[in-house]
Amino acid sequence: MAVSSNNRSVTALEGARERMVQTQLLDRGVNDPRVIHAMRKVPRHLFVEPALVNRAYDDDPLPIGAKQTISQPYIVGYMLQALALKGTERVLEIGTGSAYQTALLAELCANVFSVEKLRRLAVQGRAVLDELRYYNVAIHVGDGTLGWSEHAPYDAIVVAAGAPRVPEPLAQQLAGGGRLIIPIGDQTSQVLKLASRTPSGLEETSLGECRFVKLLGKYGWPG
Ligand code: SAH
Repeated sequence: MAVSSNNRSVTALEGARERMVQTQLLDRGVNDPRVIHAMRKVPRHLFVEPALVNRAYDDDPLPIGAKQTISQPYIVGYMLQALALKGTERVLEIGTGSAYQTALLAELCANVFSVEKLRRLAVQGRAVLDELRYYNVAIHVGDGTLGWSEHAPYDAIVVAAGAPRVPEPLAQQLAGGGRLIIPIGDQTSQVLKLASRTPSGLEETSLGECRFVKLLGKYGWPG
């Protein structure tokens, strides 16, 4: 019967999600209880193309169309852990993409402001977030290297695409004491940078190598 086979596949996906949490996150040091709780809860399979549902909990990025990818679960967990959100923050996300990380942010902070360059992805992402009732998310279609000045300053900013340098508007829109996480480097490999805003300017730490799609735009890569 359709209903029982559907239930079975939902159970299988939940099992795959739990294995993802154990082997890709906890076993590799992503153990912040709030991040783990969110990643146990958010159904990643709703953010991938129907044909890829059975690979939704694999240890890989997956294509989401328009040459873009949903990031590997580990890197998403790692970045969210580095942001150390408490639940009260206003967070700016650049590169909504599938909106999977957007949903996790919606679980982890008070308000999410997400900017996506491609309208099609923004519209699709909004639909899934609405289905899951994440109403504390605002999405804007535009060039995220300009930030979203209307709602600034932000307690945290997370950039999900690789940039040649920290876009100046993002540095300006970060609140005092706020954290910015962004992959910086060339177009094939980057270093994940965590920058904190101190009275004397941005203080940067390197968190290791990573590989993201390009951040395009005025303060990103041309194209
Ligand atoms: N966190 C997302 C990552 C998607 S890939 C996920 O896991 O699904 C990065 C996204 O950044 C792509 O959707 C791409 O269209 C978007 N992007 C690239 N340059 C951008 C820019 N200047 N402003 C906003 N979004 C941008």
